[in-house]
Amino acid sequence: MSADEFDIIAKLFAPLATSAAARGLIDDVAVITAGGQMLATTDAIVEGVHFLESDPIETVAKKALRVNLSDLAAKGARCSGVLLTLIWPDHRRSSEIADFVRGLAEDLEFYKAPLLGGDTVASPGPLTVSITAFGDMSGARTPSRADAKLGEDVWVTGAIGEAWVGLEALLEMGMVAGAAGLGTEFAACIDRYRTPEPPVAFADAIAAFASASMDVSDGLLQDAAKLAAASNLRLVIAAERVPLSGETRAWLARGKLDAAAALAGGDDYQILFTAAPQQRAAIEAAGQARKLAVTRIGAVEAGAGVSLVDGEGRPLATKAHGYAHKLGK
Ligand code: ADP
Ligand code: MG
Repeated sequence: MSADEFDIIAKLFAPLATSAAARGLIDDVAVITAGGQMLATTDAIVEGVHFLESDPIETVAKKALRVNLSDLAAKGARCSGVLLTLIWPDHRRSSEIADFVRGLAEDLEFYKAPLLGGDTVASPGPLTVSITAFGDMSGARTPSRADAKLGEDVWVTGAIGEAWVGLEALLEMGMVAGAAGLGTEFAACIDRYRTPEPPVAFADAIAAFASASMDVSDGLLQDAAKLAAASNLRLVIAAERVPLSGETRAWLARGKLDAAAALAGGDDYQILFTAAPQQRAAIEAAGQARKLAVTRIGAVEAGAGVSLVDGEGRPLATKAHGYAHKLGK
């Protein structure tokens, strides 16, 4: 197959861009009809930073889309369209682009996300995929990080720490001879690192019940601190209430690490939100109806920052924080 950008657009991307707004990918723009407020978000993933060169290329496409769907779900919104910028490195075979597009096609279909357009360029640098996603609000309001109120509960969807364990396991497998067995023992965590599962089905419940909300991408503790700062309040999180999978617990036991390590690892793509205590039963019912885990992990109190506490409410010392990109030398 030719690696010419125009062939790739016509043969691989155009068949996926079936919405009228995309104009068959033969125009300079997509034409979006928006009734009221529209949400927009963008996230890029870079080889060696957000995914490993050895990750299956289908999963790279899926991850690029899902990290964006995670932002929309956290705001109680549904995806109404995406723009995709593919920056393809000279060192990779162009035949892999078809596999990338196959993974993308599966996810666009699964998440009902229309492909509106994008850009395709070659680069001497690492594989980079940037997606811009647009969203329609499910409810009347878009919860911000600043909307937490004193006395509210703190909740999180799904499980925390799996992607961190998956990355650690993959790195150890790459560096330590005889560590290949980790691929089986921590298979679910490796899957979560490569293909996060943002709880998009919970978006309408977020719109209905959440006060403040955000997605957890850079580590639960660090992201909780952002929500606390935006709301001018303190989040108190009970370490033992934070949902950890069996594999995550096994990884912590293996390295004699405490749970705070999992709470600092990133790439969870779950939703952290606050809600009034009167909403407890409704939130639990919403989780059950959607077969999604949702767990009450703490409370919003007066003050600043995040406190991690034990079962008796005593503060736990933790040096663990989260991930932040350092730019430049
Ligand atoms: P221009 O040179 O005017 O920017 P392009 O040749 O880059 O136009 O793109 C032609 C069409 O193909 C446009 O509709 C654009 O949105 C679409 N397109 C290009 N690359 C991608 C991609 N990676 N994914 C989806 N659509 C793409
Ligand atoms: Mg172009």
